[in-house]
Amino acid sequence: MSQQFASDNTAGVCPEAMEAFVRANSTGHEISYGDDSWTTQVCDRIREVFESDCEVFFVFNGTAANSLVLGAMCQSYHSVICHDKAHIETDECGAPEFFSGGSKLLVAPGENGKLTPGEIEDLATKRTDMHYPKPKAISLTQATEVGTVYSVEEVRAIATMAQHHGLHIHMDGARFANAVAHLGVSPAEITWRVGVDVLVFGGTKNGLPVGEAVVFFNKALAEDFQYRVKQAGQLASKMRFISAPWLGLLADDVWLKYAAHANAMAQRLYERVRDVAGAKVLFKPQANGVFVELSPHVRDGLLDKGWKFYTFIGEGGCRFMCSWDLLPETVDRLADDIEALSR
Ligand SMILES: *Cc1c(COP(=O)(O)O)cnc(C)c1O
Repeated sequence: MSQQFASDNTAGVCPEAMEAFVRANSTGHEISYGDDSWTTQVCDRIREVFESDCEVFFVFNGTAANSLVLGAMCQSYHSVICHDKAHIETDECGAPEFFSGGSKLLVAPGENGKLTPGEIEDLATKRTDMHYPKPKAISLTQATEVGTVYSVEEVRAIATMAQHHGLHIHMDGARFANAVAHLGVSPAEITWRVGVDVLVFGGTKNGLPVGEAVVFFNKALAEDFQYRVKQAGQLASKMRFISAPWLGLLADDVWLKYAAHANAMAQRLYERVRDVAGAKVLFKPQANGVFVELSPHVRDGLLDKGWKFYTFIGEGGCRFMCSWDLLPETVDRLADDIEALSR
């Protein structure tokens, strides 16, 4: 299939990750279930990248990572504050509720896909009686589901509110690399230094074959986490083949190089479509997605030409996601078609 915009997980594996994957096969036998030399190396590398003595786990996908972390933060009678567009609310089939034994998600409609401290305070203080599930965690998506990015100040303000109300902070970082590339800050500055307890560090959309890293800055929350991972069927026996590809991504800032490229492709598309008559860009892109309202004629015309993209994610406009390997020519061809159909 030619390059597409349906999701940043339609792309394949980046060469650096593939090379590390193959290299992990060169050491013959290794201890299974994560006690291998490759997984040890990756965990150390992640601790370096985050300048933190964090605890790291690997699972197969983002849904499991988010759900197991929320399960670790919450009892069944707790609740999680999140945006109403959050992946945990709209795209995880109730897994966060399932793996936490019933923790309810409390949603708010913040502008530009972001929760605000005010909304959090409203939800956290709305009720204090035992008939309502007690708020225990905040879940932030970074970058957000609509292609925007929380600034350091915004996360800090939310963390202050969280601390005030005794709430943990979970960060769904399926596109964490795109957020860091946009912000130009160190990974530490946008996570534990501003109060994030646990980050789900997304690798798949950044160029890995499979797998997300779960990074606990608050190590008390990691207690017994490996049992949750195992019970959920998320513990890879040949762990090195999930972990080792990270070495390719995390060497020489390859992860940020690809994320910055994907972000730049989104900017390129944005620059072209924002001037098209009848096209309405819904959010100013900061990460690697462009959301634009197009007329039914243009939308159907694009589908007829074979373009693949979603219309049900985010605000109902068309979502164009840019992958780590997206070619500028692909962006230009899409933009040409949007222009031509809009005339
Ligand atoms: C892609 C994505 C995930 C992970 O989805 P899986 O298909 O379960 O790996 C999580 N959060 C967000 C915001 C995503 O876009």
